Amino acid sequence: MILVTGGAGFIGSNFVLDWLATSDETVVNLDLLTYAGNLANLCSLQEDPHHIFVRGDVCDQTFVSELLERYKPRAIVHMAAESHVDRSIHGPGAFIRTNINGTFSMLEAARAYWSSLSGNRREEFRFLHMSTDEVYGTLGKDDPAFTEDTPYQPNSPYAASKAASDHLVRSYHHTYGLPTLTTNCSNNYGPYHFPEKLIPLVIVNALAGKSLPVYGDGQQVRDWLFVSDHCAAIRTVLANGRPGETYNVGGWNERTNLEVVQTLCDILDRLKPRARGSYREQITFVTDRPGHDRRYAIDARKIERELGWKPDETFDSGIERTVRWYLENEHWVKQVQSGAYLTWLDKNYTQRATENC
Ligand code: NAD
Repeated sequence: MILVTGGAGFIGSNFVLDWLATSDETVVNLDLLTYAGNLANLCSLQEDPHHIFVRGDVCDQTFVSELLERYKPRAIVHMAAESHVDRSIHGPGAFIRTNINGTFSMLEAARAYWSSLSGNRREEFRFLHMSTDEVYGTLGKDDPAFTEDTPYQPNSPYAASKAASDHLVRSYHHTYGLPTLTTNCSNNYGPYHFPEKLIPLVIVNALAGKSLPVYGDGQQVRDWLFVSDHCAAIRTVLANGRPGETYNVGGWNERTNLEVVQTLCDILDRLKPRARGSYREQITFVTDRPGHDRRYAIDARKIERELGWKPDETFDSGIERTVRWYLENEHWVKQVQSGAYLTWLDKNYTQRATENC
């Protein structure tokens, strides 16, 4: 059994679905169901006894400790977080609470639980912490990509809160010997991505005939990784990563934001043409985000060399799959846009509720 935090979010729900498609090991899914958590993503697991959903807060150390005692997982995959950079600019407090204090209480609960284990169970226990490439700061056009040794220089409250959590995780390994693993991944994309993020926002706005906002000159460069490749990387690191190590995860797919938006327009032009003209006509340049990092690039050679992981999807194949998923899942998009998925919160809570299917 493993404990996953944030398993109703974008990467989390993809990870839980992926895990249970490839293994019969039970997942305890601890998620607070903030605006970003959506149990409708996990509809297909409604009858699956290997998925145990628990609504709760990673900041509640007593609650987490009780869960660990009750389920006795062999590993924790900690991915619950506040994850949207723009939101961190407007309201950093939630990021400090969940990403820093939440990781601290997860580490404390994990340390106490791990200390109580003995023999093989203690030997095998792992605490995997999911983080981001944004902790490394920004790169110039010709700078080499981030390696695991690149100094941290976070520039947004989101990146700073994730950097702080990474440092806490590192310190728990060095100070207490907790068998931690940290992954720093580039931008993910794929199914179930909340439409406040660039790729789903562009798809959804394009189809609704709305403008497609591009920050500044659109020349900011990001590396993109299809979410199922990230899930596979997490499984690999959990299985074979060396305790105390960090692993960069990326797709070798650097694109400017403008290129990403134009690619989406071109795919939509082919799959769902407008009555007249191209979706590119909806592109609108808007005032840049304050402190917007210019370029992120990930050197993923360590995980490839040491653990044999490589992404399956190219950017072209992954982005086409993503657009097709959004075209085929209009109901999901409508529920998210209307906030209908949140009505779940008003209903009575049950341990394995996925009523919003
Ligand atoms: P998300 O915002 O889609 O999901 C976060 C989930 O965490 C939600 O289900 C939310 O309900 C839950 N959550 C929030 N606060 C909580 C709390 N206090 N207690 C319990 N659950 C809580 O995020 P995501 O994009 O799936 O990212 C998952 C993780 O991966 C994050 O740690 C993020 O920093 C990291 N990451 C994301 C990307 C990306 O491109 N999305 C890239 C690299 C790393």
